[in-house]
Amino acid sequence: MLNCAIIGGGPAGLTAGLYATRGGLKNVTLFEMGMPGGQITQSSEIENYPGFFEHDKTGMDFMDTWQKQCFYFGLKHEMKKVERVAKTGEHFTITLEGGESVEAMTVIVCTGSTPKRAGFKGEDAFFGKGVSTCATCDGFFYKNKPVTVLGGGDTALEEAFYLSNICSDVYVVHRREEFRAAPPTIERVMRKENIHLVTNSFIDEVVGNVMGVTGVNIKNNNGEITHMDNTGLFVFVGHNVNNSVLKDEKGEFICAMNDWGQVIVDLSMKTSVEGLFAAGDMRIQAPKQVVSAAGDGAVAALQVIAYIQEQS
Ligand code: FAD
Ligand code: NAP
Repeated sequence: MLNCAIIGGGPAGLTAGLYATRGGLKNVTLFEMGMPGGQITQSSEIENYPGFFEHDKTGMDFMDTWQKQCFYFGLKHEMKKVERVAKTGEHFTITLEGGESVEAMTVIVCTGSTPKRAGFKGEDAFFGKGVSTCATCDGFFYKNKPVTVLGGGDTALEEAFYLSNICSDVYVVHRREEFRAAPPTIERVMRKENIHLVTNSFIDEVVGNVMGVTGVNIKNNNGEITHMDNTGLFVFVGHNVNNSVLKDEKGEFICAMNDWGQVIVDLSMKTSVEGLFAAGDMRIQAPKQVVSAAGDGAVAALQVIAYIQEQS
């Protein structure tokens, strides 16, 4: 029986593993379906993680040292996809792809969330190279420059507002006339002089070169194309929370979730199920940053250590 099963090897999961094992917990395994590192390994740059300020290093370089450190204290890694977590009596059963199962006293779920793609030409090729899904991460690269935002929901308009304090102009491209965001958010955006709403339009193509994005082509519903030069593109068309491991065989969640499929946790990262914790981008109100995901992982691991002590 594992003392703790950690699911997902991004910043939250790796940090949970570091804190659990360095805190003296034995039999801790991290299940990660790919190479550990998480979403940030897709980024060409990271400059908002305190203590790491090397402009020539990618997200992959950044996470490389995490792996060495996080596995040093005895954390084990199984490169396996987890299908499902179930509470069976006092402990948990973790079902892996292929049907094999593992028992654990506690579980920390850190499977992250995946920003949806909009599907325009060049989106995949330039993802992380000028096409971004994170204003907090990449807005500063466009200080005093124009940027384009795609989407008409709360996220798009809130992030457009954030960007408007950094960038010279923010062009919000939305495929309809009406915005989905909450009315006060729409009003706040409309009052901001450097935010320009481009409705009934979509991104036809993002263009660039080996250095990254150089501009975007915006097409309106009449077929007219406007080219915008020297702009970064921020895409906010929704998120898929990677929460399928928390569904039982009938498709019901085993713990409390909010309407958007995020796990409801308290400040200790405890879910509504005893012994089950969630950390990082998949939890409610996640700032979706490496630093906060890592913080969540540390908090969850400390709680796991305390929980196991209470049980023995
Ligand atoms: P993730 O990093 O998403 O990790 C989840 C892990 O779980 C993944 O490795 C996945 O393979 C694994 N997993 C999922 N399901 C299963 C399963 N069923 N079984 C086993 N494993 C599973 N943040 C910043 O702070 N600064 C930045 O500059 C920045 N730039 C970014 C640039 C890009 C291009 C992207 C995509 C994100 C960026 N972020 C940045 C955001 C940051 O990467 C995330 O907030 C952070 O990685 C979240 O960590 P996490 O551990 O919660 O989840
Ligand atoms: P969302 O509400 O699903 O909005 C996504 C937006 O992207 C919509 O405007 C949609 O257009 C557009 N879109 C979707 N696919 C597209 C495509 N392929 N091409 C172009 N545009 C596309 O997502 P979200 O803004 O991330 O919000 C998710 C949930 O979190 C929502 O319920 C939201 O209210 C909530 N949220 C709340 C807050 C808050 O309360 N402060 C903050 C952020 C998010 P259409 O409108 O035409 O469908």
